Amino acid sequence: MPDRHDHWIAGKSTAPVAGDYLPSTSPTTGEIVAEVPRGTAPDVDAAARSARDSQRAWAARTPAERAGVLLAIAASMRAAVTELADLEAAETGKIAPRYEIEAAAEYFSYYGAVVRALAGESLDLGPGSVAFTRRQPYGVVGVITPWNGPLNQACRDVAPALAVGNAVVLKPSEFTSTSSLALGRLASECGLPEGVLNVVTGLGPEAGAALVDHEDVRKIAFTGSVATGRAVAAAAARRIVPVTLELGGKSPSVVFADADLDRAARAVAQSFTANTGQVCAANTRLIVERSAHDEVVRRVAEIVRGLEPGTRLGPLITEPQFAKVKEYFGIAEAEGATLVTGGQVRADGDLARGYFVEPTVYTDVRPETRIAQEEIFGPVLSVLAFDDGDEEAAVALANGVEFGLVASVWTRDGGRALRVAERLEAGQVAVNGGALGVETPFGGFKQSGIGRVKGVEALHTYTQLKTISIGTTF
Ligand code: NAD
Repeated sequence: MPDRHDHWIAGKSTAPVAGDYLPSTSPTTGEIVAEVPRGTAPDVDAAARSARDSQRAWAARTPAERAGVLLAIAASMRAAVTELADLEAAETGKIAPRYEIEAAAEYFSYYGAVVRALAGESLDLGPGSVAFTRRQPYGVVGVITPWNGPLNQACRDVAPALAVGNAVVLKPSEFTSTSSLALGRLASECGLPEGVLNVVTGLGPEAGAALVDHEDVRKIAFTGSVATGRAVAAAAARRIVPVTLELGGKSPSVVFADADLDRAARAVAQSFTANTGQVCAANTRLIVERSAHDEVVRRVAEIVRGLEPGTRLGPLITEPQFAKVKEYFGIAEAEGATLVTGGQVRADGDLARGYFVEPTVYTDVRPETRIAQEEIFGPVLSVLAFDDGDEEAAVALANGVEFGLVASVWTRDGGRALRVAERLEAGQVAVNGGALGVETPFGGFKQSGIGRVKGVEALHTYTQLKTISIGTTF
């Protein structure tokens, strides 16, 4: 029998009002691994009220006191890394999710530290008055997350939101709810007051929509697809509630022939296959200088051929996602792209029970085609070439999509690296594998989203600015 879970509301495990549960299925074996509540509006209402009722007391604590609780949560997540990673592995099929749990814990460590440095400004208005700004929490924040990095994406928003004194209602993806439910319990055990973090599970149009519409929710953080982001933003607009949108991508790796081609190829291969290509920030387009094209493609193909589905490459998350990637194999063929490696589903032996595909590389991809433009969310790389020395063409190809989440540039020419980085339409640009962690603000240009998470910037995302001006004659 699969484990049955309940919502985490007001510091307690709470059964859904309607009494319905959803199965959560392993994409590796097809087995039901858990049951989670199919939350509806009354569950969301209970969670939002408990958040509202607890928020002021939480915000009234000093930053140091709040930080203490966040640091305890980080430590406790690290102590429970095996258990949390097992929950995620069961629901996502991820092969080694430990580092993702560790990265998720980092959000609590980081915001538990930097919140104590959050500051406003003092403004000089001349004699007779002083003015200063304060950053105040919104109140109740609704956080809606996708399935591809369940705890990681939840903590990316939950930690900064809590750090600055908000209370949170978290609605994880219906496919991967259990680690978020575990986070709710763990946070309570670490001294987070009841009601400050609530976790309500269920379907998007039911629990998710009810959360966006709830009158007590004063800020929404949404991570997911463009289509859902648009619906969430429209619903939030009706109530004039600010929304942060972290959406999809079709990110480029721009490789010049003077780069360290071996390092570049390894980074490209890693980026488009990590989590079986189910990463918003995956670099799924390789834009390469023509004289280096064959060499880089050969190296990338060689690396990804070694990623054996089932052992080194996990499954796709669901049957519809599997069907979608298969459909793109057909689209690529119809569009006249050249298949270098992959392009097949894998259904041999035990793999037949899950949703496995081969890592896939296409060359001769035309920029206007669907495999060059659309987010596939599978391990599929589209390669486009530009003429030697034509920096302009490289930038135009890189920017020629509706998305703008991340980008990478590979070259040993420092001036060119900076020129290209400056012009790429992306929220984050990594030059020659520059590190990007919890500290670096992250978010999309164009249809990849609105607002920024990570870094000190996220403390601004979760606060509203107030100016207080005082006449000095009393
Ligand atoms: P999705 O949009 O289908 O679902 C995301 C969440 O929204 C889920 O919790 C879902 O239940 C909920 N939802 C669905 N309909 C809703 C509605 N009407 N109202 C409120 N909530 C609703 O996305 P997904 O398939 O879970 O995730 C994959 C997508 O997420 C990809 O496009 C990927 O690029 C994107 N993503 C972006 C980032 C980022 O940081 N930019 C990170 C991870 C994933």
